[in-house]
Formats: sequence, structure tokens, C-alpha cells
Amino acid sequence: MKSFHSSDVVVIGGGASGCATAYYLSKKGASVTIVEREGIATQASGYSAGMLNPLTGIGIPGGLQNLAKMSFRLHQELWNSLIDETGFNFHPEKVSTIDLLFEESEIPSLENIRKTYETEDGFESYWLEKSELDAIKPSLSPEVKKGLYTWGNCSLDSMILTKAFANSAMNLLGFLITGNVTGIESQGGRVTAVITRDGKIDCGAVVFASGPWSAEGEEWLNICIPVTPLKGQIIRTKLQSVETQPSHDFNGSGISLYRKRDGLIWVGATEENVGFDQSQTAEAKRHLLTNAIRIMPEIKNSEVVIHTVCLRPITPDWLPIIGKAPGWENVWLNTGAGKKGILLCPAMGKATADLVVSDNTDVPIQGFDPIRFQ
Ligand SMILES: Cc1cc2nc3c(=O)[nH]c(=O)nc-3n(C[C@H](O)[C@H](O)[C@H](O)COP(=O)(O)OP(=O)(O)OC[C@H]3O[C@@H](n4cnc5c(N)ncnc54)[C@H](O)[C@@H]3O)c2cc1C
Repeated sequence: MKSFHSSDVVVIGGGASGCATAYYLSKKGASVTIVEREGIATQASGYSAGMLNPLTGIGIPGGLQNLAKMSFRLHQELWNSLIDETGFNFHPEKVSTIDLLFEESEIPSLENIRKTYETEDGFESYWLEKSELDAIKPSLSPEVKKGLYTWGNCSLDSMILTKAFANSAMNLLGFLITGNVTGIESQGGRVTAVITRDGKIDCGAVVFASGPWSAEGEEWLNICIPVTPLKGQIIRTKLQSVETQPSHDFNGSGISLYRKRDGLIWVGATEENVGFDQSQTAEAKRHLLTNAIRIMPEIKNSEVVIHTVCLRPITPDWLPIIGKAPGWENVWLNTGAGKKGILLCPAMGKATADLVVSDNTDVPIQGFDPIRFQ
């Protein structure tokens, strides 16, 4: 097969993981080519809720904690220069959130969250009594008993962030190819080219950042890459009166309400183990709306403007896969970020770029080596 392009590094996948990797690689002077079959940020990286919460979630506290904190810091360090350099404003901002309690039994777990926030620089958290919650507009459900206010997490537009990373890489030695990678060519433990329908792309190294589809590479590399999809649906609703836009984000009744810059309230998200199915379902819409109305009855009078569906890349231990592909000299995996891929993309991208270029990184990636699944 004829080659039509060559690059120091080929990154397979133009989501947040792949584009952040390309960004850091290009800053290190590598020529990098992103091969993406659908378009930059057309999958989960374009339709996530865009929340950066480094203090709670699966693996925090635990194996993900240090990576999450470092990534949160890297985000804030690069935002201004990335926006200035590319003109892509992904509108990062700090957010306030209230976790609403419907049952007294929820108090202990939320009290743990309060203590965590209280001790972390740049964050705060305190309890709100029912009388304080009653003053919030639009009104919350009378069923709500108490609330935990937190401040310090961030929110951004993950589609624009991902495009900004890609754009920055393109402004240096980056290249974008729209194509579906269908295999590799190799010689003596080294990948020499990736294969697309249009021909092959010669390369010095390859990064697999293909999100929920990463397991496609198992056959090509003869290793285990146990990443599976977890479907998530979000609805974006428009309240009838703009004056009643809420003053905080809310969590409760198994869902979240996010105030977004598009003037809509995003209600998310479902978690469905249904393979690669990406259809919108009436059942999910009903579930999200019912619970949103349970939090804020005013949502009954809202209109659902957009309904999105995308897939999270999940691993068996809910930790990402970052590191060299076992048995290969020049193949790297950067995938499996699960429910935190937007938060984690700078740290995962930097770690991967460091490893590709110098086999060493200051990013805390202990516990994420692909070898654990072989
Ligand atoms: C509903 C929902 C809400 C979320 N909210 C948040 C949040 O608030 N905060 C947060 O941090 N995370 C959130 N996430 C998780 C986050 O969106 C994902 O972890 C992250 O987007 C994964 O990025 P990725 O680049 O690994 O994968 P993707 O974004 O899926 O990108 C992978 C890309 O690879 C391409 N590809 C795959 N195979 C090939 C191939 N063979 N050839 C060429 N291209 C290929 C695909 O087309 C795709 O574009 C959310 C996820 C969902 C579903």
C-alpha cells in the first residue's frame, strides 16, 4: 500500500485525549498528525457536561486523586494562553453547586464532601438550611430538606476546548487527516505506519486515543485494551422566563442541573450499559425531566431544545490507561478516562507527550500502565 503522508507521531482519535496529546507533542517540537474519522470533538468530547471536579468521583479519594488535581491545575495554567493563541474561547469559569438532600440518610456522604472542600485551597463548602433554600429562585421542590453549597469546581465548553487543542497543534507542526484507521503496519516491535482507506501514513510513533473504540486496536497490537462504552444522554431545556434562570447548578434525585452560557439548563446524565448504541430514547428524556422537575418544579414549563447522546470510555477498574503498549517500542495508549475525560485531558495529554518524546514524565501516572490488563 502506498503512503500518502508521514509524521513523527500519529494520534488516532480527535477527542479531548487525542487533541490534548497533539497539543503537548507539538509544543515539544514533534510533527503530529491527528487521524479522526468523524471530525474533531464529534463524540463525547463535544457533548460532555464540561464540568471539572477534581475533588470527588470514582477513584477520588483513591487512585485518581493526584492525576485529577494535577490536571485541574494544568487546565487553569493553560487556559489564557490557549484562548489567546487560538481565539477559541471555551469560556472556563468557576461554578457554585448545591447538592440537594431529599433524605436525611444522605447527610453523612455529603458531610464527607463538605470536609474535603473545606480543607482544599480554592474551594469552599457549607450547609444551607431549608429556609435559605426557600429563598432561591426559581423555587426548589418543597420536598428538599437541606442543601450542601460548594464553590470552586469549573465549567467550560468541552467541544471548543478540544478544537482549541487541535487548532494550537495545527498552528505548529500539526496536521489533521479525516480518515478511519483500519490497521497498522509493523516491523520488529515497531509500528511503521497506520492504515486508512486512502492509504497508509508513515510514522515514528503512534498514540491510541480512540476513546470507547480503543479496543479496536486489540487485534492490531495483539494486546488487551479493555475499554467499553457507557452511554450518556443529556437534555438541554429552555425555561419560559429568562428572569428565572437559576443562580447555581444543582445535584439531586440522581441527576444534575447545569446553567450554561447558551442560556439553557442542561439536565444530565444517564448511564446506560448498552454497547455502542447512540440513539436518543424517550425513556431517558422522561427520566431526566421527571427528576429535574422533582428538583425544580418550574422545569415543567420548559421546552426541551436539544437532546444529546454520547459514549464514555470505561475501563474495568475505572482508571485511565496511560503508557506504552506492552510488547511495542513506539506505541502509546491514552484512553479510558471514563466520566472525567475533560478534567483529565491536560494531564493525560501531557503525560503521553512526555513519554513519547522522552520516556519519562512528572505527571503522576502510577497505576495507569496498560500492563495491568495483560
Ligand atoms: C453525557 C456525558 C457527560 C460527561 N460529562 C463530563 C464532565 O462533565 N466532565 C468530564 O471531565 N468528563 C465528562 N464526560 C466524559 C468525557 O466526555 C470523556 O471521558 C471524554 O470526552 C473522552 O475523550 P476521548 O478523547 O478519550 O474520547 P472521544 O471524545 O470519544 O474521542 C475519541 C475519538 O476517536 C475517534 N476514533 C475512534 N476510532 C477511530 C479510528 N479507528 N480511526 C479514526 N478515528 C477514530 C472517534 O471518532 C472519536 O472522535 C462526560 C461523558 C458523557 C457521555
